[in-house]
Amino acid sequence: MFTRGELQFSVKYPFSSATKGLAKWINFDFSSVEPRLLDRAKQRAIEGIETGRTTVETNTSSERIMIAEILSYPLAKIIVGKTRDKFLISRYARAEARAFQKFLLHESPANLGALARDFGFSISDAVIPFTDYLKYLPREEEYKLVNAPLKDGQVQVDNESIAHLLPEKLRDQIEKDLYQPMDVPTVFDTYAAEVAKETNRDKAFKITEEFGKVEAGIFPPCIKLLIQEAESGQPMAHQPRFVLATFLVNVGMPVEQVTELFRNTPNFNEKKTRYYIEYSLGKRGSGTKYSPPSCEKMVFYGLCRNKDALCERVKHPLKYYSKKKEVKPNA
Ligand code: SF4
Repeated sequence: MFTRGELQFSVKYPFSSATKGLAKWINFDFSSVEPRLLDRAKQRAIEGIETGRTTVETNTSSERIMIAEILSYPLAKIIVGKTRDKFLISRYARAEARAFQKFLLHESPANLGALARDFGFSISDAVIPFTDYLKYLPREEEYKLVNAPLKDGQVQVDNESIAHLLPEKLRDQIEKDLYQPMDVPTVFDTYAAEVAKETNRDKAFKITEEFGKVEAGIFPPCIKLLIQEAESGQPMAHQPRFVLATFLVNVGMPVEQVTELFRNTPNFNEKKTRYYIEYSLGKRGSGTKYSPPSCEKMVFYGLCRNKDALCERVKHPLKYYSKKKEVKPNA
């Protein structure tokens, strides 16, 4: 039996141990899921991918709605996992982590502690093992290890740093889960195909637009593809990295944001990536500001991909962008 308060908690934290037992309580059967639940899960998946954050109905006392909200989490995970699309999986995992963080920042210390234990963090006396801290280190400067009090292999943490650590772990966990083989009814394949088809990938780029007046939705197709590859964590050789970084800094994206884009790539090193981007901006080394290659060179490198009609009228990826923006390129 779940009380209303417990259901409300589970709406916010459907992955918590407190939610375990819900499926049994309501006799939930994965082999015959109601379409309304799958529809809600699909909506959750698309919203997360497109906007970078999922939202749930927390202001309701309806048990039926709360249960649908809770179930939308595992169902959305299956649907997104079934797409087998690295970009969608990565975006969705990040969206759930962001939503989680938003709730955590207003959570009571007792609930924070309980959720931290759910994630396997052995937090006692406000300290956390060094290895856990390092693995899920928040990105903000104040959480860098050099700024964190460290003693006997334990890092001292406060509630705010816990609220930044746990979402990173959730994201990691969701991504791992979604790459596992899933033995579920074929209806999930149908919903996965719909999510892959209906998700507006241009909208998904909006997250990069938050940081400036850069209009990522009108980037040339070759650059959009490189962004997808970077965000989905694919290994990237030097040339595509160079193309992506130089294009982005030339259209005015802040160094921070460009650095962030490479975070999912294997062996990401924030310091080196930032240095490299500043180098291409001319802020380091010889002071030369670099531009991305022309379309002709992009063809030579095998990076001119997904050409569209406008591509036939431009000779440079920056020109493509400026034509769409109807301003002159700044490079
Ligand atoms: S033609 Fe130019 S802008 Fe278009 S995809 Fe190829 S390299 Fe990119």
